[in-house]
Amino acid sequence: MIAPMDHGEHDIARRAADLASRVPEPLAALARIAYNYRWSWFPDGPDLFGSVDPHRWELCGENPVRLLQEASGESLSRAAADPELLARAASLERSLRAEMAGSAAPDPPRQERPIAFFCAEYAIHCSLPVYAGGLGALAGDFLKEASDRAMPLVAVGLMYRQGYFHQRVDTSGRQHEYWLDTDPERLPIALVTAADGRPLTVSVPIWDAQVVAQIWRVDVGRVPLFLLDAERPDNSRLARWITSQLYVGDPITRLAQYALLGIGGVRALEALGVEPGLVHLNEGHAALASLELARAETARGVPLHAALEAARQRVVFTTHTPVPAGNDTYPAEEVSDALGTFAADLGLDTDSLVRLGRFHPDDDEEPFGVTQLALRMSRTANGVSRRHGGVARAMWQALWPERPIDGVPITHVTNGVHLPSWLGAAMRRLLDRHLGEHWPQRAAEPATWAALDAVPDKELWAVRNQQRAELVDFVRDRSMADRLARGEAREYVQAASRAFDPGVLTIGFARRVATYKRLHLLVQDPDRSLRLLAGERPIQIVLAGKAHPSDDEAKHVVQTIFSLKGAPQVGARVIYLHDYDIGMASRLVQGCDVWVNLPRPPLEASGTSGMKSVANGGLQLSVLDGWWAEGYDGANGWALPGDVDTDHAAQDARDSAELYRLLEQEIVPAFYARDAGGLPREWLSRIRGSMRSLVPMFCAGRMLDDYTERVYRTNGSPGE
Ligand SMILES: *Cc1c(COP(=O)(O)O)cnc(C)c1O
Repeated sequence: MIAPMDHGEHDIARRAADLASRVPEPLAALARIAYNYRWSWFPDGPDLFGSVDPHRWELCGENPVRLLQEASGESLSRAAADPELLARAASLERSLRAEMAGSAAPDPPRQERPIAFFCAEYAIHCSLPVYAGGLGALAGDFLKEASDRAMPLVAVGLMYRQGYFHQRVDTSGRQHEYWLDTDPERLPIALVTAADGRPLTVSVPIWDAQVVAQIWRVDVGRVPLFLLDAERPDNSRLARWITSQLYVGDPITRLAQYALLGIGGVRALEALGVEPGLVHLNEGHAALASLELARAETARGVPLHAALEAARQRVVFTTHTPVPAGNDTYPAEEVSDALGTFAADLGLDTDSLVRLGRFHPDDDEEPFGVTQLALRMSRTANGVSRRHGGVARAMWQALWPERPIDGVPITHVTNGVHLPSWLGAAMRRLLDRHLGEHWPQRAAEPATWAALDAVPDKELWAVRNQQRAELVDFVRDRSMADRLARGEAREYVQAASRAFDPGVLTIGFARRVATYKRLHLLVQDPDRSLRLLAGERPIQIVLAGKAHPSDDEAKHVVQTIFSLKGAPQVGARVIYLHDYDIGMASRLVQGCDVWVNLPRPPLEASGTSGMKSVANGGLQLSVLDGWWAEGYDGANGWALPGDVDTDHAAQDARDSAELYRLLEQEIVPAFYARDAGGLPREWLSRIRGSMRSLVPMFCAGRMLDDYTERVYRTNGSPGE
């Protein structure tokens, strides 16, 4: 045995020291801070790096490593001579060190074996492009909250060299996709090396090759995230492509990704010397991890059946996708081709492996599903909202043919969001002033939020106005850039510079453009929509979201929206922003007064963007599906019915009529009703009610409490 592994801590420290040695000595602290994403959720973190060189910070995509690599000598010297900036850096480094040493932890870290969290995507920060949307945002928030609570957790994912696609829309509203290469040398991550100084690698038999993966370490506060990467000279072009693109269109490549993530991920932990007590599969992509856990048992001589059961006892599974097409399935031959060697190593013939991924193992026609495998091979399973728990029990009931739907062992843990990551600076300052020191640690306790009642209306309104005004600046700047890039007529480009008004009711609708999200309801009656935009009490709407490259129906909806752009009010009151990402999401949820979500029930598993909006004082106008079905109390926002209707056209007509009615008769009048001092008293009391009732329920702290009690500490699967 060589010296015990250090899990890559030294590799991170070496990279940080290397960067520190290339900047003026007084800025060394900044280089060290840059290599732990914890900076991104200290209130002063982003501003601190921005202060070095604001324009360069923006050009670098808010990547602190690039900032320090690319800023001019002049900017760096200026920063190095700025005593105020240096004091802030020193203070942030002290906080970071204290926290890493454990002194700031609410509970001292327990010496348990860690939970290994597996996910195909992580949205940690906009500078680390290994995410697509909601699942990644949830996973990123999960890691950050686990870090804040010093939970023993390690995370495993893939290092996509091109990430998810970027989006450009042309003048007709047609979406175009492009990919950008990520250069890991310019990211705050480090390749984990073995004792001999070479990259630590694992290999996984996929197709007829041994695919070799190296491992990047990313520090997310106290939680290490390990990303597997097949971009190795020992791999063929085909094998290297496996970790090229997230949610790549080709299903066979995706199956290879799942093998690398699940099997390779477990092997990587073993190579790192991490022995997880539990493996948490966040969505089905990593389902093969359970079989690798079993393979390790059989290699120790445990008989196959006992090995599979032992593995099952160490795995918990969260399903996120009530849309059947979102749960990947594969014909048996593709599974045998890709995983034949692995199955043989496990002592399982491929036919038996495929059977583990079927509802009805004996049905030779049935394909292999990763979700079926995950459900069969986990000791507990959960959906991500109360309603989704029920939907998932019905959807997967065939796996438990002897049980009624209510007895299907799938429970739920409703999603939550990491508040320090999503709060605007103005709201954060307000809460810091009124909720007491260390309030984020008490965010899941309703009593914490009772203090909101003492916040003067004037202060709350000032925060809302400030965050809306910041959004307006952002929207003008981005939309001008987008319109210029599309080659729009000059007049329409200039309309963007006057777009939006900081005093106008601002509505946001931004998320993945998928048909079930029903963006089209906003323009169901174009004339009525146009009337809402004009008039004395207007609204303005910011839209954003990418459609999956192969989802033509969704892409078409964006074109429909664009077909209205010629109308006079539209150019300045409706903005569709290109290339939605978490950086943009945070600006939108911070600035919008009303956040709209119109999924076709029951297809929204949870949704989380609305929770981010609530924390910033945004009010919800949503279908009673996903999280809103348990959050709405009749007064803390507005609701559209959540009934299921197979007549989609009729449902859309009803829902859009109700949407217009709520906007015209309730929302617009409430926003514009002002008292003598210019304050919208009713609106502000609604914001207070919304935050008081919803933030403690839908913060990530509550989510982790629930996972700890209902999933990690539970052996059986109670159902409900
Ligand atoms: C929060 C978030 C989501 C989730 O959006 P929903 O509306 O809840 O589906 C998607 N994408 C990004 C970039 C996010 O930050």
